[in-house]
Amino acid sequence: MMSDHYAKVSVQLEQMKSSGKDAAEQGVAHYDHDHHHQVPSSVSSSDPLGGGGGVIVPAGPGGRRDPSKASITYRQRCKSRSKLIKDKKNACVKQQHGSADQQALRHHDPEVAHVVDDAGKNLNRSAVEAQQQQQHHHHEPTLHVKGTGKILQGKTETNGNIAPYHRPKDAKDGHRDDGPLKLARRRRPVTVDTSKAKTSLEAMKLSIKQLRWKEFPLGRRSACDIYWHGVSFHDNENIVSGQVNKFPGMIDMLKKITLSRAVRTMQELFPEEYNFYPRSWILPEEYQQFSAQIRMVKEVDATLKPTFIVKPDGGSQGDGIFLIRDPSDLKVMTGSQAKQAVVQEYIHRPLLIDKLKFDIRLYVLIKSLEPLEIYIAKEGLTRFCTEPYQEPSQKNLSHVFMHLTNYSLNVHSGNFVHSDSLNTGSKRTFSSVLYRLASKGVDIKKVWSDIISLVIKTVIALVPELKVHYQADIPPGKPGPSCFQILGFDILLMKNLKPVLLEVNANPSMKIEHEQQVAPGVFEYVPSPVDEEVKVGVIRDTLRLMDPHKRLPGAQPGGSCEQGEENGGDARSPEKMQEEFGTLPSLCLKQVYPKYTKQFNYLRLVERIAAIFLRFLGVKGNMRLGPTAFRTFIRNCKLSSSHFSMASVDILYIDITRRWSSSLPDSREAGMGLQAFVEAFFHLAGRRFKSQALRDQVSSLLEVCEAQLASTLAFGSLGSEDRRSLSCSRALSRGNRTTQTSGLTTNAQLYSPASQRRAASQDYRLHQRLRPGVLRSNVEN
Ligand code: ADP
Repeated sequence: MMSDHYAKVSVQLEQMKSSGKDAAEQGVAHYDHDHHHQVPSSVSSSDPLGGGGGVIVPAGPGGRRDPSKASITYRQRCKSRSKLIKDKKNACVKQQHGSADQQALRHHDPEVAHVVDDAGKNLNRSAVEAQQQQQHHHHEPTLHVKGTGKILQGKTETNGNIAPYHRPKDAKDGHRDDGPLKLARRRRPVTVDTSKAKTSLEAMKLSIKQLRWKEFPLGRRSACDIYWHGVSFHDNENIVSGQVNKFPGMIDMLKKITLSRAVRTMQELFPEEYNFYPRSWILPEEYQQFSAQIRMVKEVDATLKPTFIVKPDGGSQGDGIFLIRDPSDLKVMTGSQAKQAVVQEYIHRPLLIDKLKFDIRLYVLIKSLEPLEIYIAKEGLTRFCTEPYQEPSQKNLSHVFMHLTNYSLNVHSGNFVHSDSLNTGSKRTFSSVLYRLASKGVDIKKVWSDIISLVIKTVIALVPELKVHYQADIPPGKPGPSCFQILGFDILLMKNLKPVLLEVNANPSMKIEHEQQVAPGVFEYVPSPVDEEVKVGVIRDTLRLMDPHKRLPGAQPGGSCEQGEENGGDARSPEKMQEEFGTLPSLCLKQVYPKYTKQFNYLRLVERIAAIFLRFLGVKGNMRLGPTAFRTFIRNCKLSSSHFSMASVDILYIDITRRWSSSLPDSREAGMGLQAFVEAFFHLAGRRFKSQALRDQVSSLLEVCEAQLASTLAFGSLGSEDRRSLSCSRALSRGNRTTQTSGLTTNAQLYSPASQRRAASQDYRLHQRLRPGVLRSNVEN
C-alpha cells in the first residue's frame, strides 16, 4: 500500500538496544503499543479541548509577547554577516554517515539500509558509478550496495551524495568521448535563470553544478528553460515559456486564514479524513463562535482548561504568535483595528525527544496541477525547541523556547545546539528521528504512511483555488510558462504519534547556512551540514524531475504527460536516466500522486466544483463569477425549477457574495469567488438531495451538473439565450450589456462590468506584485 517506502523496514530492536540508548535515558516519550493504532477521530477528540491546569496569560496589547521573554527581538540585533567560506574538509568529514544507531542498522539489516537510501543516503548505485568514484576518490567511505553485498567507494560531497564524475581537463563543457556524457553532448545544457533565487541561491548553485546544467545568475536576454524564483510567480514578469518554480496565487493560498478555510471546506465534506488539522477559528469574524463554543465546552466539563495558539495571518517564523487559555484574552483583538489571525486549538501533548518538543519540516513538490502530480522528499528536517517541554500553564505560557519550534526563534536561545552531525543538535534530519523512534519500538512505517496521507489530502484541499489562480494568470491558449513548486510542510507528531498539520510554507527556506553567535551579539553565517544534506537533494532532484529534455512532446502547460513512477515520473528508462545523470544518486523525491490515486481520488470533489466554476468564469483573467455567469451555470445545469426560481437564484448569489466580500476585506474584485461558489454549490446540493450526508449530496449534484454540461458539450451547443448571456458576461468590455433581465443588474454594487472586474482583477494582482514587503515577509528564513 502507500507506505511501501517503509514497507520493508524491519528494525532490529536488539541491535538498537545494544547500541546502548535507553528510552528513559533519551527522554523519548514512551510509546504505547496498545494505543498507537487508535487514530483519534479528530485532533480535538483525541486531544480534547482540555489541558493541564494553568492560568490565562493575557495576550498584551496587540497580542505582542513580552520582549523580555520572547527572543524575537534578537533578530533585529546588529549582526556581522561574514562571507560564507565553504569548508569542504568539514563537509566531507560530516558525511561519515550517521550515528552508531544508523550504522548498526545499516550493517545488520539491508532493508533498513534501503530506508537510509530512501532518506537520501544514496546507497543504491551502479557499478559504473563505483568505477568513476574510484577514479576520483579522496575520502572513501564505504557503502553497502543494496542486494549485491558490494562495497562502493567514493568521494562524498557536502550534501551527502557521491561527487559527480569530474571530466578530464581537456574535455570541453559537457563533452566526453565515452559513456555517460554521450547524450549530454547531443543536447544543449538545460538553462536556469537564478537571478531571482534570493536565499535559495547557494543550494541552487550546488544543484546546477551537480547536474552540469547552465546557470544564468544575472538573467538572460533569451528565454531560459527554468526560472527559479525566491518569492513568487511574479518575481520575473513576462515569462512566456519554460517553467517557473512557483504557482500563481500560492502565497495567498497558504496564508493561515486561507489555508484554514480550504481545509475547513474539506472537513465539512470529509470530517474523518481531515481530522489532522487542529480546530481553528478565523479572527476577528469568528470570535463570537469561538467564544461560544469554548464556553459550552467548559460548561460541560469545568475541569477543562484548554489552551489556544493565536497566529497572525500572513505571519511567519513564529512572529506575533502567542498562547491563550480563554477567548476573553482576545478581547483586545476584536475591535475595528483587529488584525486578521487564526486562533487554533493548541496541541498540548506533543511527542517529545530528549524532553523537547520538535516539529518536522517536509518538502513536497507539486510537479503539476493538471494532471495532479505530488512528490514527497524522503528526507526532511526536525526542528527542536531549546527548553524542556511542559504542558501549558500560567507560568510557562510565554516561554517561546518551550512551545514554539521555529528555528528562527530557537537559534537565539542560549541552549541552541549547532551540530555538524545529522542526528544530534537542535536541527536534525527526519530520518535520524525516525531511527530514534524505531529504536523505541515505534511503527515508523505507519507514521510515514500517515504523513503521506496528510500531505496528499492537504494538497487536494489547495488545488481547486490554485487552478483558479492559474487560469487567471496563465489563461489557456496564451503563451506562458508552466509551473511547479516546492512547499514546506510543518508537521507535529502528537504523543500518540498522530501527525498534525501546523502549516504549509509557500517559500520554505532553502538556505544552507545558519546564523551562529561567534561573540556576544555577533552572528555569522556558517555552513549548515544538516540543511545542505536535505535541501540540495530536494532542489537538485526537483530540477531533475522538471528537466525539459525529458518532457514528452505534447505536454500541456501546467501539466506533464509522463507517468512513469519508479523513476520518479520520468518517461525514460532508469538506465537512460542513469546514463544522463552519470553519478547522481537515485531520486530523493518519491511520487505519491498519481501513485495513490485510488486511495485519494474520492476526496477531489471540490476540484470538480472548481472545474464547473472555471468553465463559467471564462478565460479572461477573472477570478470571480459575475451574476450573469452564475445564472448561466444554474440554467445550463438545469438546477432551477418551480420550487427554485431564477429570482431565488439571484438572491442566493447576492447573499453569499455579499457575505464573502465582507470577510475578504483585501479583495478588490467584485463577484463570486471560488469559496463562495463552493458554498453556493453546497447549498444547492442540500436543497436538492435532502437526508444524505453533505458529501453524498455534493457528489450527487456534481453528477447532475457534469451530465448536463457533457450533454451541452461546448458553449457552441448552448441555447441562444445562454450563448448571449455568456458572451455578455465575458465581453462586457465591448459595451455589450444588452439583453440581461436579471434583477441583479440593478444592483450596482454587485454588478460590475467585466471590463471593470477584469481591470480590478489586474489591479489586484499588480497590487500584490508591487508589495514586495508583504511578499518578502512571507519568505521563511
Ligand atoms: P509560523 O508560520 O509563524 O512559523 P506556525 O503555524 O508554524 O507559524 O507556528 C509556529 C510554531 O508554533 C510551530 O512551529 C509549532 O511549534 C507551534 N504551533 C503552531 N500551531 C500549534 C498547535 N496548534 N499546537 C501546538 N503547537 C503549535
